[in-house]
Amino acid sequence: MVGRTITVVRHSPPTVARTMTDHHYRIETLAIHAGQQPDPSTGAVMTPIYQTSTYVQDGVGQHKGYEYSRTGNPTRAALEACLAALEGGKHGLAFASGMAAIDTVFRLAAAGEHVLAGNDVYGGTFRLLDKILKDYGIEYTFVEMTDLAAVRDGLRPNTRLVWLETPTNPRLKIFDIRAIADLAHANGPRTLMGVDNTFATPYLQRPLELGADIVAHSTTKYLGGHSDVIGGAAILDDDAIHERLKFLQNAIGAVPGPMDCWLVLRGVKTLPVRMDRHAGNALAVAQFLADHPAVDEVIYPGLPDHPQHALAMRQMRNGGGMISFVVRGGADAARRVAERTRLFALAESLGGIESLIEIPAAMTHASTQGSPLEVSAGLIRISVGLESKDDLIADLRSALAGL
Ligand SMILES: *Cc1c(COP(=O)(O)O)cnc(C)c1O
Repeated sequence: MVGRTITVVRHSPPTVARTMTDHHYRIETLAIHAGQQPDPSTGAVMTPIYQTSTYVQDGVGQHKGYEYSRTGNPTRAALEACLAALEGGKHGLAFASGMAAIDTVFRLAAAGEHVLAGNDVYGGTFRLLDKILKDYGIEYTFVEMTDLAAVRDGLRPNTRLVWLETPTNPRLKIFDIRAIADLAHANGPRTLMGVDNTFATPYLQRPLELGADIVAHSTTKYLGGHSDVIGGAAILDDDAIHERLKFLQNAIGAVPGPMDCWLVLRGVKTLPVRMDRHAGNALAVAQFLADHPAVDEVIYPGLPDHPQHALAMRQMRNGGGMISFVVRGGADAARRVAERTRLFALAESLGGIESLIEIPAAMTHASTQGSPLEVSAGLIRISVGLESKDDLIADLRSALAGL
């Protein structure tokens, strides 16, 4: 084999596992440096895209830590270490999508065990429980988690996982992570508490510090931040659960490719600046909507009249970039608004630099129709991007005109 005779360049993979979980570094610094250091073989400042499926071995079983890219890849390892540092966790695992991450975490539950989930979750998470995991013997129930007594009553002796999003999607409710983690842990040693932190991101909220055991992300959204990649992640502290999840990650194989990992790593570098601007723009847009005569209701955690505003300000750095609202005239009027904006693109997803608008009942949350999680047909959800807030407000003003 030719490779054995070439001795000039010996690329050794960088030690990308360096995690910088040092509390000494703040999140703005971790976003740019954690998990990454100049490539020792070339000095490249940015983590290379290791577009390879396999790695040469010096002798049978003798390698530099990488054997096959489903199991491990240096670009992915850099992303995993970076995301772990951002969430203040010990271990990070990257997946091919947010749903791949959530599915892998849910497989911690065995047949006959129970998942207690918040009653406002991503439509795909609902579908995973309701259409797939149910048939493998995993029980699930949904409860209103703004009501802590309902959470306590919803726990069962066989509850393996308490699962929530906060802010929720699309109603933007805020759940008390610390209080719910305490209830979950009081249920018994096998009950874990997980948070889908996609909407808040670790810049706004760090669930592990509030007592959660596992954090999951769709990195497709704010972490990637540019609407150009699909990805997911899980972050946690516990070594044994990490071993199990890592085993599942490799055994199931829903892993991201190196190019996608690189895109998320690149996006994460600007996460703190982006999130500040997303939230600043969203607050201005929410205030505009709240004052508009054709708008019946605005849901934004950063507005003082949000039902959990005080909790949001305690648990999060700011109100985030997502707003839901209801216009006068019901479902037809909502559709008209969503079809009339020009800057806000009519599309699913969220968390990119560009502004998006959608009707959850007909789009992202269509799978909840007829279930207790069904979303009202008149609700409009917007992801406020980084364009000029004045241009965004002008766009909504003209879309709302004549309602
Ligand atoms: C988008 C999303 C997911 C699913 O992530 P994908 O990357 O689309 O698989 C899960 N949870 C939340 C809150 C999301 O917004």
